[in-house]
Amino acid sequence: MNRSLLIKPSMKEEYPTVTHGEGIYLYDKDGKRYIDGSSGAVTTSIGHGVSEIIEAMHEQANKVSFVYRSQFTSEPAEKLAVKLNELLNADEDYWSFFVNSGSEATETAMKIAIQHWQEQGYFKKNKILSRWVSYHGITLGALSMSGHVGRRERFVSILEDYPAVSAPYCYQCSLKKTYPSCQLACANEIETAIKRIGPGQIAAFIAEPIIGAAGGVIIPPDGYYQQVKEICNKYNILFIADEVMTGIGRTGEMFGLHHWGIQADIIALGKGMSAGYTAIAATLASEKVMKPILQGSNSVMSGHTYSANPQSAATALAVLQYIEKYQLVQNVKVQGEYLLQKLLFELGESKIIGDIRGIGLMIGVEFVSDKSTKRPFDKKLMITNKIVGKAREKGLLVYPSSAGQEGAHGDAIIISPPFIITKSQMDELVSILKEVVLEIQKEVGG
Ligand code: PLP
Repeated sequence: MNRSLLIKPSMKEEYPTVTHGEGIYLYDKDGKRYIDGSSGAVTTSIGHGVSEIIEAMHEQANKVSFVYRSQFTSEPAEKLAVKLNELLNADEDYWSFFVNSGSEATETAMKIAIQHWQEQGYFKKNKILSRWVSYHGITLGALSMSGHVGRRERFVSILEDYPAVSAPYCYQCSLKKTYPSCQLACANEIETAIKRIGPGQIAAFIAEPIIGAAGGVIIPPDGYYQQVKEICNKYNILFIADEVMTGIGRTGEMFGLHHWGIQADIIALGKGMSAGYTAIAATLASEKVMKPILQGSNSVMSGHTYSANPQSAATALAVLQYIEKYQLVQNVKVQGEYLLQKLLFELGESKIIGDIRGIGLMIGVEFVSDKSTKRPFDKKLMITNKIVGKAREKGLLVYPSSAGQEGAHGDAIIISPPFIITKSQMDELVSILKEVVLEIQKEVGG
């Protein structure tokens, strides 16, 4: 029996034991091969076992692995901060605060936003406005911001009530409108919420540029982020972009918001920042955000023992350099377009698939019981679990997501393979997924 409870969503299920990984493949102790069709949790973007990264890790381990961030900085940490600022390519410089997970990155973003206003004497500007159908992490502050019903429900009594506005979810619009005649009603809801709560109480608005775990890849319509940014500026509210899933090339741009030419005040990064080679994440804050903090207490009121440790920083730096050196973001664009078209062609007509949508190598497949009404499957059928389980049996890993306005109760998966995937590997991925979908379709009588 598996004893590592932390990695088990279901106590009834036995997981295979991994032995090693190579490129887009993982292998278990019985020698079975799996296509890592989701890069784990949308993380292992450069693939497994890359020798250049392993060498960089080894080199740093030979120098020094750990120093306490209040006693030393290190060359890798400083270089990583410079590299992230360079990749962001914004019209002002950004500072980096290093943490260990995406949840810590969004929670630090929330704290920096609150501190930014406190340092200027605005002590009541301490709420965060967020959207439904969103996921910002599992720790209590991050979960408070998350509009993910399934992950909130057990802890709702100790969470802040931050999600207050609709997601830009055109396939299942909660406002029952259609783009473009809706005139971006979901963005305008943000203004209504700000007026209701009071701009003097809100430090920041947080959004994933493209919604991942809570919605199975939701891409907002054009104009949405321009409107969001204008509203935030009008009411003196900082804009936090949660780029934990979208950041570092996943969508075919280095950052998700680059698709719309929008600059956030604070940015949370994780996952692909180190492509799974180490646990590191970051909160990036602009010069404008940092100025009152630097002039005030001169320190961000947060930090973890492992923040900015040289071993993780050197690893993440090597990953970023690797992505640049081999122009992998360009590859994401090309391969992503092929994979999306292939999925639409092979699976678009399936009776249980309502929508296939994607950007770069971040593709969502939403399952519905009725294509015309978009009605989700009964929760008890556990369609997502069945798809993920059957795919794994056949040697394909996909990421379980949720969908629908109820947040956690609709069914969706995310397909997000490593950036290095080839055309023939994508053909194999789609062909396994097609088999799985046809079998489940038969099971549910479709
Ligand atoms: N933010 C987003 C957009 C995420 O997708 C996730 C994880 O899925 C998180 C935050 C939390 O990151 P972590 O699981 O590393 O704490």
